[in-house]
Amino acid sequence: MKIQGLQKMTLLDFPGRVACTVFLGGCDFRCPFCHNGELLDGSAPAVMDDQELLRFLKGRQGLLDGVAITGGEPLLRKDLPDLLRAIRELGFAVKVDTNGNHPDALETLLREGLADYVAMDIKAGRSNYSAVTGTLRPGLDAVSRSVEILKSCDTEHEFRTTVVRELHSDIDFEDIADWLAGEKRYFLQEFKDSGDLVSDGCSACGAEEMDRFLSIVRRTIPGAAIRGMD
Ligand code: SF4
Repeated sequence: MKIQGLQKMTLLDFPGRVACTVFLGGCDFRCPFCHNGELLDGSAPAVMDDQELLRFLKGRQGLLDGVAITGGEPLLRKDLPDLLRAIRELGFAVKVDTNGNHPDALETLLREGLADYVAMDIKAGRSNYSAVTGTLRPGLDAVSRSVEILKSCDTEHEFRTTVVRELHSDIDFEDIADWLAGEKRYFLQEFKDSGDLVSDGCSACGAEEMDRFLSIVRRTIPGAAIRGMD
């Protein structure tokens, strides 16, 4: 399997773990605020393959205890289960990030116990999904199924929304509060401009606006929090 990026150590990407982050190119959404623009069409050059990654991990046993798999959209990779199995056999916990558009693949990972933690993006309130995913027909049924799968699973998981001033309003967070009611972990993430965005014209909300969105979602998700504000 081709791997488009490796961050050798992170304390941020996998809660409670000292991890590395593996980037898998290719995504079926085109979120205007995506900060991994060069990874989306899958043509980004590979920095290594799966065998090289496994060799790297063997050299990090005892130093790292987790591997965060992100993208792009990792669940587009048909051979992801094989890679996760091999990583777990080396003794590492695995976190998988997903845009939620591939519930069958998500279900397989969970059923086979291949992920210790799943982070799913909630891009917007349901009526706003097209604008925020940059796709005319986002698989809202698929995304909703992924939400239900995670809500009813025992695997640790979180939902999170990257908040963009030009794309989100109170209406989004009122719907998300309804959609995720009762969930334990939900994060509002501050948008950051990486300089490699899919579209221009995205900016971060101020602290006051973020706090207002947070107070909306906390009506049904008391543990919701803001992540990434300086
Ligand atoms: S932010 Fe959107 S476009 Fe970028 S990788 Fe995630 S789902 Fe794909």
